[in-house]
Amino acid sequence: MSEAEFACIDCGENYPPNLPRWRCGCGGPLEVEPNAVFTRESLASRPTTLWRYREAIPIQDDSNIVTMDEGMTPLVSIAHSGMEILCKLDFLFPTGSFKDRGATVLMSKMKEWGLAQVLMDSSGNAAAAVAAYAARAGIECDIYAPASTSQAKCAQITAYGARLHKIPGPRAASTAVAMEAAKERFYASHFWNPWFNHGTKTWAFEVWEQLGFTAPNAVVAPTGHGSALLGAYLGFSELLRAGYISELPKIFAAQAARCAPMVQMWEENLEAVPEITPEETIAEGISIAAPVRWKQMIEAVRESGGCFISVEDETIPPLLREFGAKGVLMEPTSAVAFAAAGLLREQGKISQSESVVVPVTGHGLKAADKLEKLMSV
Ligand SMILES: *Cc1c(COP(=O)(O)O)cnc(C)c1O
Ligand SMILES: [Zn+2]
Repeated sequence: MSEAEFACIDCGENYPPNLPRWRCGCGGPLEVEPNAVFTRESLASRPTTLWRYREAIPIQDDSNIVTMDEGMTPLVSIAHSGMEILCKLDFLFPTGSFKDRGATVLMSKMKEWGLAQVLMDSSGNAAAAVAAYAARAGIECDIYAPASTSQAKCAQITAYGARLHKIPGPRAASTAVAMEAAKERFYASHFWNPWFNHGTKTWAFEVWEQLGFTAPNAVVAPTGHGSALLGAYLGFSELLRAGYISELPKIFAAQAARCAPMVQMWEENLEAVPEITPEETIAEGISIAAPVRWKQMIEAVRESGGCFISVEDETIPPLLREFGAKGVLMEPTSAVAFAAAGLLREQGKISQSESVVVPVTGHGLKAADKLEKLMSV
């Protein structure tokens, strides 16, 4: 594989992609730019895992790939709010969330960098994914997660052999403790390290194949740090640049109203992430007060003609029941994007005739304790 470009999105400083680094010297986030693309013809003969898009995934050497043959999740149609939503069943991954798309690539890069120990912070799903792939790579892993994280996710992280540190306070407290610990060990953060989103982008490639090599009109992604959102943008942008689609889908970013800094930024045209005090939300997976890649998120949504939109917590339990009764049990965080799709349809931002894809990002069983309360069983 030819080397990828590895550079800061704030100051443009370039770094060699073969040396471990998670942030620019200026403090800005880094981005990685693969300089290859797969051909449509080559895909037919490849295994149906996300590594079929090999040329687009910026890992140098095949021998470093850490995989469980994940990917190519089903795309099923479900009626909701007077439209047919194409649901990308991205909870069908080894760890039960779409974060495995990012973790397989991120941990491959960690292996390529020869790291023996890493640490990261997460509200649960990214941690479970990184813990599982770290185990597979033989890399020791420390996880910092909010004490309020669903018990099922905590058990899962521990079962993969990672050391779990439960941090009291809001989600941001876990990040602060992890960044301090990162002075000693490599910080395998899924939002600081750009390799992660070059895994999540494969959901766009799969949708493109599943729709007969076309893009949908719109996608709606539940959004905190933006790994599903930016994955969609990176994936569809690469397809556009290669001439494989003629237009980006409108990319809509859905946040929980109780923690919606990006919605505020968008609506008030702010130049910096506002200081907010997040309220506790049932959408634990996207409760992010200070997203790192806000610039990229705004650009993605603006360029595609989408918008940021918030959803009240109260709309989530009925939605979980509605989709459950149609055979799809998702975790509360995932429901935010479906509720948003309904609102966007009502507001006319998605029309009747448009195709819309929404990823089901996490399995309902991931939040079994919370579901138990919601379903009052
Ligand atoms: C991580 C996650 C998301 C997206 O979160 P980002 O912080 O935007 O990357 C969405 N749904 C679930 C269930 C998640 O775990
Ligand atoms: Zn920089």
